[in-house]
Amino acid sequence: MRALLFFALVIGVFLVVLIISQRIRAFRAKQEQEDAHTQPEEPMVKCQHCGTHLPQKEAIVNEQGEIFCSQQHLELHHKP
Ligand SMILES: [Zn+2]
Repeated sequence: MRALLFFALVIGVFLVVLIISQRIRAFRAKQEQEDAHTQPEEPMVKCQHCGTHLPQKEAIVNEQGEIFCSQQHLELHHKP
C-alpha cells in the first residue's frame, strides 16, 4: 500500500513538472513571436542625401522635414 502511494506521488510530481515546463515553453514561444512581430514594424526612412534606409528613431530630421542618416549628410545636402 505504501509503495502504491509513493508511486502515485512520483507520478503527481512528474505531471506537475511536465505542466510547468510546457507553460514555460509556451510563454517563451509567445514572447519570441511578439519580438519577431515588433521588430519589422519599426518604420524605415530613407536618407535624402545618400538614399540609405534606416530606422526612423535613428534618423535626423531637419526643419523642412527632410530625413538624413547622419548630421554630416544633413549638412552636405544643403551645401551647393
Ligand atoms: Zn545619408
